[in-house]
Amino acid sequence: MTGVAREPGERRAELADALARVRERIADACAAAGRAEDEVTLIAVTKTFPASDVRLLAGLGLTEVGENRDQEARPKAAECADLPLTWHFVGALQTNKARAVAGYADVVHSVDRSRLVRALSDAAVRAGRTLRCLVQVSLDEDVPDQERGRSGAVPKAVPALADEIAGADGLELGGVMAVAPLGADPLPAFTRLAAVAAEVRRAHPGAAVVSAGMSGDLEQAIACGATHLRVGTALLGGRRAIVR
Ligand SMILES: *Cc1c(COP(=O)(O)O)cnc(C)c1O
Repeated sequence: MTGVAREPGERRAELADALARVRERIADACAAAGRAEDEVTLIAVTKTFPASDVRLLAGLGLTEVGENRDQEARPKAAECADLPLTWHFVGALQTNKARAVAGYADVVHSVDRSRLVRALSDAAVRAGRTLRCLVQVSLDEDVPDQERGRSGAVPKAVPALADEIAGADGLELGGVMAVAPLGADPLPAFTRLAAVAAEVRRAHPGAAVVSAGMSGDLEQAIACGATHLRVGTALLGGRRAIVR
């Protein structure tokens, strides 16, 4: 799928090296922030990489896997059904995909509107599963609400959405998630996220997940209290551009 075919042992060694480097970055950032390493969970975002990589990562002790497109995630999760993995859906989600995603995802990071809460609740109930949901928060500032694409609820809409999730059948409120705005300093954005996360926790003390930090900004995310990191490139290597 990516690059030239190589010996499986070579890919395993490459992933093991990358994992060790990422774990070291996490350890250093936790030490700098005065946080315990076990407060931070690493999610490997395996989008565009094959199920064989997921299997190798599981063999290296990783238990959390993230994907952002249903059409890719569904068969991959099926191929890896024998592995003890938790599947995180981290991408923009259309309501008509809710049923499919509820079939294999354990955690949905991208819940940003009421309609999606209702669709996921119906889907989870039908599937007889409980879906952990995070409210995706838009951290773009100075962008009018109507121009913010699909990437998250505006901060002031988050508490009501969190209440809806907490009250929905088949769903469990996990906390919040965000992606730092492209090309801007991630620190002020993650600081704003921490404030939103604290507000959600005041109403829902168990909703302690703060999903923030990717390959390029995991240190800043840890400094601002992230509990879950979504790391793709730094673990798996560069992705080919996806043509939409
Ligand atoms: C792809 C993706 C990531 C991982 O990004 P990297 O920069 O490759 O680490 C994290 N979060 C979301 C929502 C993604 O789509």
